[in-house]
Amino acid sequence: MDKLIKWLKHEGIEVYFVDMEEVGLCLVNSNTILISNLYNELTQLKAIRHELKHFDHKDYIYLYDQFVYHSKMEYEAEQNVVKESLNEYIAFLDGDIEKVNYLKFLEDYELDSNYAPYVIQLLTKMKLRIPKNNLENSENCIAIHGFVK
Ligand SMILES: [Zn+2]
Repeated sequence: MDKLIKWLKHEGIEVYFVDMEEVGLCLVNSNTILISNLYNELTQLKAIRHELKHFDHKDYIYLYDQFVYHSKMEYEAEQNVVKESLNEYIAFLDGDIEKVNYLKFLEDYELDSNYAPYVIQLLTKMKLRIPKNNLENSENCIAIHGFVK
């Protein structure tokens, strides 16, 4: 979590830990995220990942009070939690996507099992993006077609 907070500071976003009931709050216009002291580290980390996404909504934040947009923004923020947590989980597995057990992942990160299809979708995309021995294959291409610069 320290690494994420440092990175955010570098990006111009300050994270403050305060006493409040709400797990996290995003003060979009002052580039600030407030995180509650009352929760454990995993919950706080997920809250940061959630609130962070709301900065992408900055230009539409006036729509936040409208139910449909509110739901959409909240859903996107929650998807960001799943996505960033999955990236971290994969890093723990030395980047081996094949080792990911999505149910265990959801359980370890205390995420709703409703996100299972989304996790599967993310994993499928990742597998398509990084074919095995990708680098070797491209080198082979260059070796065979010597004219390729
Ligand atoms: Zn939110």
